[in-house]
Amino acid sequence: MKVSLLLFAWLIAACSTISANSSSAPRLENEILRLELSIRDGALSVFDKRTNLTWRQQVEPGFKVVPDSLQVTTNSISCRVSGPGEICDLTIELKGGAAAGFDLTAALPNEHYGTLPAYPFHFVAPDKSWFYVQNTSGEGMLMPLDRPGEINKAYGWSGSQPWWGLTDLKHGLAVRLDTFRNPDTRSGPEESTVYAFPLRLRYDFVTAGGYVALAELYREYFLAAHPEMQPLRDRVADRPPVGMLKDGVYVYLWGENPADDLRLVSEMKTAGIDRGFAVFYGKHPIDRALFDGIKRLGWVAGSYHMPTGNLFRVGRRGWPNAILTGRMPAEKLRRTSDAKGWERICAKFQLPRWLEKAKGMIASYGTQLFYFDTLVVQLAPCLSPDHPSTIEENQAARLKLAQETQELGTVVGSGEGVAPTWALPGLDFYEGAMSLRTYADPNLKIPSGGCDTDLGDGYSSDAAFILDEKRRVPLFQLAFHDYVASTWVWRDTNFQSRPFAWKKDLFNILYGTMPIWHMNRQLWESHKADYLASYRAVASVRSQVGFSRMTGHGWLTPDRSVQYTDWEGGQRVIVNFGPRPYQATERTTVAAKSFVVRATAAR
Ligand SMILES: [Zn+2]
Repeated sequence: MKVSLLLFAWLIAACSTISANSSSAPRLENEILRLELSIRDGALSVFDKRTNLTWRQQVEPGFKVVPDSLQVTTNSISCRVSGPGEICDLTIELKGGAAAGFDLTAALPNEHYGTLPAYPFHFVAPDKSWFYVQNTSGEGMLMPLDRPGEINKAYGWSGSQPWWGLTDLKHGLAVRLDTFRNPDTRSGPEESTVYAFPLRLRYDFVTAGGYVALAELYREYFLAAHPEMQPLRDRVADRPPVGMLKDGVYVYLWGENPADDLRLVSEMKTAGIDRGFAVFYGKHPIDRALFDGIKRLGWVAGSYHMPTGNLFRVGRRGWPNAILTGRMPAEKLRRTSDAKGWERICAKFQLPRWLEKAKGMIASYGTQLFYFDTLVVQLAPCLSPDHPSTIEENQAARLKLAQETQELGTVVGSGEGVAPTWALPGLDFYEGAMSLRTYADPNLKIPSGGCDTDLGDGYSSDAAFILDEKRRVPLFQLAFHDYVASTWVWRDTNFQSRPFAWKKDLFNILYGTMPIWHMNRQLWESHKADYLASYRAVASVRSQVGFSRMTGHGWLTPDRSVQYTDWEGGQRVIVNFGPRPYQATERTTVAAKSFVVRATAAR
């Protein structure tokens, strides 16, 4: 034992180009950060020289750096870490100068996919008063770390944006995953997200701005990686229907026939619902007269599709991850599935066929919008011997399908389950990005029924998560509001529970996002005044900020019942979720359960 410790010390001295220090731990250092790797337990610690803050990790027992594996250069440490049931080949790279972050690669020898390994350990907040910053299936959450049991799927990457963070509302750490994952989109604490190895992670440290700064970091990274992406407002010249995403309402129509739905949209327009998307699920066939009529009213006409089918067509729920992780042999699934099933779920197979179909629909009806249900959610490898593909290729083909549909001139959206950022370059809107499925998901079975269901007060247990202004934060909108429109999910529209509709509207107003409704004659005639009031309120704000970058978010009262968002045009939207008026300035009062938009200096 003594000999091996001596050997350690010698190795470190021999390999390290960093000057010797009192401890034996290998170090990397630049002007901002000092990283140290513990040989004894494999843990990393990071000292931030700007704030004198030391970040430590949650150490699992039994891990250690394998003695002869350590290599240290000026900018990198690499070694093998072994622990219970896991071997990890680790590379850490810290650039010189004033880089306030570092890169880490974790390779698991002979493993290509798996659930999140115990090592690398996750960093912990310096103090229990901090918050866990979470990207859920859609929007963000700010979870108090003094109640860790309330956080679902912590320290993983199962959400919309593949990063999580820690903050005290000022300082912060963001940990970004840059490699493939197939997210577990179920509500609840269990976590079965599957990752491709090696994992590539990026750690960034900020000293100001809290979660807003962390969201901006991801935005900057993503936009730099996708320079071809245009803001929504710049897409309108080539695809005019995109303009409706700025301030229109997204409406699924459930009438008995095309004439019935056209009459309904016409009445809505006359009543004052000036701008909207009329979207048809396929309850009745659509026809040219319907779409032409909708366009004459100044609305945009579109339809729901599922160009890539449900994964249960080929196997039982969860099979893709079972195949990836080797829990199920591929050959077994091939034996019990049929060729048609593989054709249905394979994006590569469907791509040319879908484009032909889409062109046909555009020619026949003048379709202006396509919504692709779960295109971006139900990822899988294709095991067909005729057209096999990996799950990563499947993801790439799904993105291509969305992008090439945009090139036909139409508005393209997807979602329902998770709003993953990899699909952003192919989408104009996300259904469900406003939702927090990681925490709660109403049990409605639309389209099988329920579009006219009023969940009433029964929604309060879902609302405790979904509409909790104390914990929600607009991480998705802070990053991408000017690049993609967002709605609630169609099983949980603005009016799915009438007692809570006011609060969903206020979140749309605060976040500048698009309302989503189900509509039929009975709903319209019973609640016309509610729809009109809702439409006018949300549109009054979105007509100003609908295509703008969100530049800030925060609260004005300690109980967070009064919140604001700041916008690139200089507007500040103030929303009062509380039961009492709020005096914003000498001259501005925000009524209870209401909002105001203030013009401040342009930013
Ligand atoms: Zn295939």
